[in-house]
Amino acid sequence: MKNNYWAKLYRNTISIFLPVSKKRRGSCNRCGACCKLPNVCPFLRYDENNKARCTIYPIRFIACRKYPRSNKEFLTKDTCGFWFEES
Ligand code: SF4
Ligand code: SF4
Repeated sequence: MKNNYWAKLYRNTISIFLPVSKKRRGSCNRCGACCKLPNVCPFLRYDENNKARCTIYPIRFIACRKYPRSNKEFLTKDTCGFWFEES
């Protein structure tokens, strides 16, 4: 959990200025996993199909828009709809 804390802190600070990797593929399947790192975001809700829904979606944080930015910062591989091509 402590690693997740630092990973999220990094995700929400330095990494927001960096570009999204060109090796990223896929799309968000609204699993909601990235909105719980390390604590559940207060803006996270779920719809009737158990899909994650952001209540501030139009003005969500840059870090949210870019996640997962790179394979190195990819913390939710088990459920995320994105992936990164091998180099
Ligand atoms: S972990 Fe991936 S698929 Fe799940 S909500 Fe975040 S970006 Fe979307
Ligand atoms: S602001 Fe929205 S997209 Fe960002 S972590 Fe919270 S619920 Fe998820």
